[in-house]
Amino acid sequence: APAEPILRVNNIEVIYDHVILVLKGVSLAVPEGGIVALLGANGAGKTTTLKAISNLLRAERGEVTKGSVEYQGRQVDALTPNDLVKMGVVQVMEGRHCFGHLTVEENLLTGAYTRRDGSAEIKKDLEMVYDYFPRLRERRSSQAGYTSGGEQQMVAIGRAMMSRPKLILLDEPSMGLAPQLVDEIFEIVHTLNQKEGVSFLLAEQNTMVALRYATFGYILENGRVVMEGEAGKLAENDDVKEFYLGMA
Ligand code: ATP
Repeated sequence: APAEPILRVNNIEVIYDHVILVLKGVSLAVPEGGIVALLGANGAGKTTTLKAISNLLRAERGEVTKGSVEYQGRQVDALTPNDLVKMGVVQVMEGRHCFGHLTVEENLLTGAYTRRDGSAEIKKDLEMVYDYFPRLRERRSSQAGYTSGGEQQMVAIGRAMMSRPKLILLDEPSMGLAPQLVDEIFEIVHTLNQKEGVSFLLAEQNTMVALRYATFGYILENGRVVMEGEAGKLAENDDVKEFYLGMA
């Protein structure tokens, strides 16, 4: 029998500012150890879905008004973003959000903020991150604001890894990056998934690349899941090709 998914989103509705209905009943699941793509055009509701899971909506006057979110079989809707980080759920925001005035290494260390284990463990994890991102080791003392877009995306993912996550909610990792760098980032996501067992829910407008690395995908349109399936099958689907891959 298939294992219980690490994440289950059950028919959630999200409203901003008490009036703007943005998610109109979204359901999805991420299997333990899976990479799941959440696809759709700009404004479809991908970011809102990720924030509804990590409970980052409140800061934006958004709220889940219907449905539920379960992580490892436990309902987590009422937890704070910090609690979720401690439990292993961390979101990597769109646009990378490094602290530009801090060094690369200082940025990575901020990712360990919820942890109580000693500095030796944190140091070990820093080395783990540098092993996955050798480029960050070279640039450890550089101010993050002066590194390239690709390096900042690496910092954002590396920072998430410092909290020892089990599930990373990754928002538009390809945004603004040259194709070669996009591949580099996705290869690292793949490696973290394989070697560290991290599960990923990946919001992407870059359908082609996302479906190459994901095992399963959901397509959001206007706050609803309009299609879902195995990544390989979605990539072969004529509607997906026409609307999202520009290949019809
Ligand atoms: P993007 O690629 O731009 O992030 P997305 O698919 O992630 O697109 P969302 O950012 O979730 O989409 O936005 C979905 C809809 O919700 C959009 O119409 C957007 O204008 C609206 N929206 C997002 N944030 C807010 C907010 N804080 N207040 C009101 N409306 C919002």
